[in-house]
Amino acid sequence: MRLYRASSFIFPRSLQLRIFAVCFVATHLPLLGFIIWAAATHRLDLTGVLVVVGATVLGLVLALAGIFALLAPIHLAAKALNEAEEGQVPSVPLVSGNDLVARLLAGINRAAQSTAERMRSLQRDAVQDPLTSVLNRRGLLAQLDAMPEHHTAGALALVDLDHFKLVNDLLGHETGDRVLHDFAHRLVAAVRRTDMVARWGGEEFLIYFPGATEAVAQAVLMRIAERLRADPLAHVGDRPLSFSAGTTAASRGTFDEATRRADAALYEAKHRGRARILSSAELRI
Ligand code: GH3
Ligand code: MG
Ligand code: MG
Repeated sequence: MRLYRASSFIFPRSLQLRIFAVCFVATHLPLLGFIIWAAATHRLDLTGVLVVVGATVLGLVLALAGIFALLAPIHLAAKALNEAEEGQVPSVPLVSGNDLVARLLAGINRAAQSTAERMRSLQRDAVQDPLTSVLNRRGLLAQLDAMPEHHTAGALALVDLDHFKLVNDLLGHETGDRVLHDFAHRLVAAVRRTDMVARWGGEEFLIYFPGATEAVAQAVLMRIAERLRADPLAHVGDRPLSFSAGTTAASRGTFDEATRRADAALYEAKHRGRARILSSAELRI
């Protein structure tokens, strides 16, 4: 490490040239000594000197080419680490054998793969709810942001499971988790691929239906409610688990305001006895 640091001023950006410089000095000092001694003692033979210089130049070219070729894997290793840092899966060629470079490449390969995997899972967790695998709040807002403005007009629904606390209390938290997971999957299965389902809070989901009217959103929710009655995910006492929902028209520019309207409609649906879907328009009546 000391020689590595001490020599860094010679070619600060090229390890290959530094190795070459060390070899050059090490092999040429004795040669220079010999030439000085031969000149001082009048034994300098011009032909001999020319042959030695010619051979030295050829040797330099070969040494440079060899050093650059042998250290090429270290370049690849550095490139692979950069790729892993950017979240890409790095491509590190594995070499057989157990020399320094083979061990370095194998180690970097392992480190780069696990870094890339960790980056991918961090990126996923930032936008996805781990229990249900649907989008989380941030994920939905990011998808909405990524849409062209003229595609964002549509309908929004806030969906909340009724008396879900009782599912936990009566059937256990694990069953509660399973019900949340299965309910989220039913929502995803019932909507179009272009619709967005997000876990908005504990047992509350937001569905955004771009390009759809509120009537379409309500029809989809009614289908989900029907299926929940026919094929319940759990029973709260002797009643199949149900949900309440508030719907409203929305677009990206009015999203916050629309969420507040849908929330008010959801609150009113709960107030009116749960297991119902209410439009924000009905609140003004
Ligand atoms: P309401 O009909 O008024 O919505 O009643 P509720 O019981 O569904 O609503 P409340 O807000 O009283 O309780 C929500 C419950 O959801 C309480 C909380 O423990 C549960 N919950 C929230 N997140 C999770 C979760 O990730 N897993 C489980 N198992 N339960 C959760
Ligand atoms: Mg609830
Ligand atoms: Mg709730």
